[in-house]
Amino acid sequence: MNVEFKKITDNDKFCSSDVRTRFIGLVHFFEDALLELYPDIKKEALTKVDIILVDATHEQDEASCQRNTINENKFLIKIVFNGSRDIVEKLAHELCHVMQYLSGQLMVVNAKNNIVSWGGEEYILDQLPHNDRPWEKEAIPYGMKLHSYYLSSRHK
Ligand SMILES: [Zn+2]
Repeated sequence: MNVEFKKITDNDKFCSSDVRTRFIGLVHFFEDALLELYPDIKKEALTKVDIILVDATHEQDEASCQRNTINENKFLIKIVFNGSRDIVEKLAHELCHVMQYLSGQLMVVNAKNNIVSWGGEEYILDQLPHNDRPWEKEAIPYGMKLHSYYLSSRHK
């Protein structure tokens, strides 16, 4: 996965080259573990993927992942640095959504009306609380799993 950064304000966390370096390292660190969680996706497919990271702390409450509608290998991941959840876990969680999109299990059916499909079944986002969404039921435990894998690798 290639990692890029999009600047919104001069106060963005990603203005710091240390933070940028850390996040590039984290994305690359998670690649192999993600491929293990999503065995349908080939390692080669990830080389074509562009991850664009944005510090959206002042824009929204939760991190999010959006697939580009024109270039489907481009994903905008909005990171929110506030809150109780660890930032590494947030990133890992959003990368799981990238994998769900790449596998085709998660698809945007109608972006305007917030309709997505999961495993061929359509869901209207506005009618489904965040934690009840099937893709979240997968990404939440996977994100936690990747986070603990990260923590354990640091203590070796
Ligand atoms: Zn999510």
